[in-house]
Amino acid sequence: MAKLTFLGAAGTVTGSKYLVEAGGKRLLVDCGLFQGEKELRERNWAPLPVDPKTIDWVVLTHAHIDHTGYLPRLVRGGFRGPIYANAATCELTRILLADSAHLQEEEAEHAEYKGYSKHSPPLPLYTVEEAQQTLTRLQTIPRSDAFRISPQFSVRGYDAGHILGSSSLELTVAENGRTVTVVFSGDVGRYDQPILNNPRTPPRADILLCESTYGDRDHPSGSVPDRLADVINRVAKRGGSVVIPGFAVGRIQTLLYLLRQLELAGRIPRLPTYVDSPMAITATQLYLAHREDHSPEFASLEKQDGDPLDVHDVHMTRSVEESKQINRVASCLILSASGMATGGRVLHHLEQRLPDPRNAVLLVGFQAAGTRGRSLAEGAKTLRMFGTDVPVRAEIVQMNQLSAHAGQSELLRWLDGLQGAPRQTWLVHGEPPALNALAGLVRQRKQWKVDVARYAQMVDLL
Ligand SMILES: [Zn+2]
Repeated sequence: MAKLTFLGAAGTVTGSKYLVEAGGKRLLVDCGLFQGEKELRERNWAPLPVDPKTIDWVVLTHAHIDHTGYLPRLVRGGFRGPIYANAATCELTRILLADSAHLQEEEAEHAEYKGYSKHSPPLPLYTVEEAQQTLTRLQTIPRSDAFRISPQFSVRGYDAGHILGSSSLELTVAENGRTVTVVFSGDVGRYDQPILNNPRTPPRADILLCESTYGDRDHPSGSVPDRLADVINRVAKRGGSVVIPGFAVGRIQTLLYLLRQLELAGRIPRLPTYVDSPMAITATQLYLAHREDHSPEFASLEKQDGDPLDVHDVHMTRSVEESKQINRVASCLILSASGMATGGRVLHHLEQRLPDPRNAVLLVGFQAAGTRGRSLAEGAKTLRMFGTDVPVRAEIVQMNQLSAHAGQSELLRWLDGLQGAPRQTWLVHGEPPALNALAGLVRQRKQWKVDVARYAQMVDLL
C-alpha cells in the first residue's frame, strides 16, 4: 500500500523530510536539517526512523539547509541513490551544503575549545569532505517538465517564488494500476517581487502538503523602495554609511535590484556599494545565470538597460584584504552576511561602524532571539563582539517587509490556485499557532478536509 510518512517539518518549521513508499520503493522528498531548539537539533544526531540504505531516491524542493542539510547524514547512513533537483537548486545546494559542513566543523572546534560537548573530542554532524561526497549524487531534472523517476514515481516542478530554483512538486505515485497525485508546496514565496516568477500552484492534488510558516499573519505593509530611499538619503546627507546584514542567498540580490532601480530613478545618490560576502557574490552570479527563473519584468529590464542587479558603483569583495579596505571608505553601503549578525564578515563592519552616529544599520530580515541582530532591534546600547563591548551609536532601522515566505493571505491565494479540493490536506512547516490558524481558516473558507501533520505520522495514499 502506498504510504507517506512525515519525518520532519511536522509541528515545526525545520527538518523537512517526507518519505513516500510505493511498490516496494522509497522516495524521500527533501532532506532537511532540524534547527533551533536543542531538542530538535538532537534529532539530527539520532538515527533516522527509516534505514537510509532502503531509500532509493531523494528529490529536493529547494536548496535551503532546512530542506537539504541532512543529506550528508543520509549518505553516511548508507544512502546510495541519486539526489534530484533542478539546475539552479543543484548549484545553490553546492554552496549552501559546503557552507553548512564548514559551520559544523567550526562548531565542533569551538565546543572542544570551550569544553561543552558530550563527545570527546567533539564531532561535527558532518565534515566538509562528507558534504563534497554527497554533492556528487546530485542529478539535474527539468525546471518544469515531468520527470519519470521510476515506474512508481514521476515528478513535476512549479515555480515557488521563494528563492532561486525553489519549486512546489507534483508527485504522481503509481501502484497496482492506480495513481495518486501528491503535491508538496515546498516553501511558498511572494507574489510580485523583484527577480523571480510568481509562485505557481499545481493544478490539482489528491493529497496536499502545504507549508504554514506565516499561517497566522501577514507581513507589514508599506513601500520597501520608499523606506530604503529614506534611510540612504538621510545617512548620505550626514556623511555616514549604511551596513545591511543580509542573507547571502535571496535577500542581498533583492536589495541590489532595489538599489539599482532607485539609482536609475535618481532617488538616491550613487554611493560606493560593497557586497562583502563570498557566498553572496556566488549566489548573485547564479541568480543572473538562471534565466529560467526570471520573471518577465526582470527579463525585459535586462533587455532595456543591462544587468538589473548591477548597482552603479558596486564592488564585489571576495578576499579578506579587499574586505579590510572597506574600512577606509567614509560614506558607502555595505551588504554583508550573516543576516542575523551571528557570524561572518558583517561583524567586522558592525564593529567598525556602530560607534559613529552618522551611520545606520538596516535590519532587513527576521532576527531570532539570542542573536546580535535581535539585540540591535531591541535597542541594545552595546554589542558584544570579538570579546569587547562595542558602543551602539549608529541609527538602527528595521524593515520587515522583505520576507521570502508567503504571508497568510498569500498562502490562501496559492491554495485558491488549485482546481477543486484535495481529498486530504496536511499542514506542515509551521509552529503550532501558525498551523492551527491556517487550518481553521482553510476549513472555514474552503470546507476542505485539513489536518496538522504530526512527527513520524504515517498515512495511506491509495
Ligand atoms: Zn526555504
